[in-house]
Amino acid sequence: MNFDSDYTMTIGGVAVSAAKTAAVLNPATEEIIAQVPSAGREELDAAVVAARAAFPGWSNRPPAERQALVAAIGERLEQHKEELMRLLTREQGKPRSGAEWELTGAIIWCREIAKQELPVHIAEDSAERTVETRHVPIGVVGAITPWNYPILLAIWKVLPALLAGNTIIVKPSPYTPLATLKIGEMMRDVLPPGVLNVVSGGNELGQLMTNHPDIGKISFTGSTQTGKRIMESAAGTLKRITLELGGNDAAIVLPDVDPKVVAKEIFWAAFQNSAQLCVAAKRLFVHADIYDALSHELVEYAKTVKLGDGSEQGVDLGPIQNKMQFEKVKDLLADARDKGLKFLLGGDVPEGKGYFVPVAIVDNPPDDARVVVEEAFGPVLPLLKFSDLDDVVVRANDTIYGLGGSVWSADPSAARKIAERLECGTIWINEIHAFSPHATFSGHKQSGIGVENAIQGLLEFTNAQTIVTKKVATVA
Ligand code: NAD
Repeated sequence: MNFDSDYTMTIGGVAVSAAKTAAVLNPATEEIIAQVPSAGREELDAAVVAARAAFPGWSNRPPAERQALVAAIGERLEQHKEELMRLLTREQGKPRSGAEWELTGAIIWCREIAKQELPVHIAEDSAERTVETRHVPIGVVGAITPWNYPILLAIWKVLPALLAGNTIIVKPSPYTPLATLKIGEMMRDVLPPGVLNVVSGGNELGQLMTNHPDIGKISFTGSTQTGKRIMESAAGTLKRITLELGGNDAAIVLPDVDPKVVAKEIFWAAFQNSAQLCVAAKRLFVHADIYDALSHELVEYAKTVKLGDGSEQGVDLGPIQNKMQFEKVKDLLADARDKGLKFLLGGDVPEGKGYFVPVAIVDNPPDDARVVVEEAFGPVLPLLKFSDLDDVVVRANDTIYGLGGSVWSADPSAARKIAERLECGTIWINEIHAFSPHATFSGHKQSGIGVENAIQGLLEFTNAQTIVTKKVATVA
């Protein structure tokens, strides 16, 4: 298998191209690295026909066989881990360490999700009747993914969808379709034809999926704005939806931590993947007692971090993934400069090839500054001073988002009390971004609808079905 060329879609277990193609760039060099099929209605219809045809056979397979095939997906990823990591760096920009984290996570997910089982609930088992609720697959699922973690976020959808007995059509972001197309290709001899289909195309293709009459569910990760459009469009056919959307996570640092000890971890909490992470720490609330010391440590640590082409050795932070996002981040920085906000570090974006933004840290801007209110999705972090715990909880919750958050303290029970008051789906204490296939991941408020991972995430790919059986002889 050639990972550097021949990018085809996978429909019904075979390679399919499209009448149109689209270019894919390397964000570190702005060079075109591939042409990929740009699918339209015709190719989508073919994928839906293939997925529908595969559904009866797949959904009727014993669950243990589906579990084994989900595990086999992971084994195949493991065989090609090195090639996929290289490809991910080329199309996404992330350094090798980030690509390794993503692939390793995807492989662990395959191993662990393969162990999950759909529960059966007996609500009544009396002399009169049994009442049993089981969970049946929905049919054809559409997965629409973003450009920040293309492999892992697709895997989070594919595994539970297939395990529950659905067939699936995956549409990666037009900015990062390459690794997903190759995963489709490498699964052609792992899964029966039509069970996993991968189509590439622009936002219009995503839109076509959301109102397709023969797709029963959309599982989407991306921006809140697109999530709202999907919800609207999916309403026409009453599709089930799972939406994992944007965030503006607060990290709250209490005065009892040692700034020297936590600075490195808090830096990466904010800047991992060049801050293109839905649950990056995006507003850092620091207690006034340690504000100066922690900001000093953060800036000193930031100066040791190397920004550059992710394929080069020693690089810690890669570029912004695409020009659209690059322009958005530059605009946010320009606004901060225009408003006279003070930068402790960075703030300027040098000219040159590649979408590189140096780490920027803003010194205690007002809570209503754009750099605080908006999700930057780039390496721009506001440090916000606080001195009252009740007040900082109110400020942390004062956002339309509710994805994640973190609390940092020498006293975990004090941190826990604050964590319980945060309006978001995941809160980490004294660490961050520790995910588990068996723990829910979900957004409160405008960060999403539904759940990924855990049994709750698996159930999102099913319909509940209750069977009531009366225990009375119907024959003499
Ligand atoms: P995006 O919403 O622009 O695009 C995501 C996907 O949706 C792409 O595949 C795109 O082609 C498709 N799409 C665009 N318009 C569509 C439409 N009208 N109908 C159907 N599909 C459509 O998001 P993005 O810019 O790729 O990703 C960045 C955003 O994603 C950030 O806001 C980030 O916080 C969020 N995100 C959230 C999570 C999470 O799990 N909550 C994870 C990663 C990223």
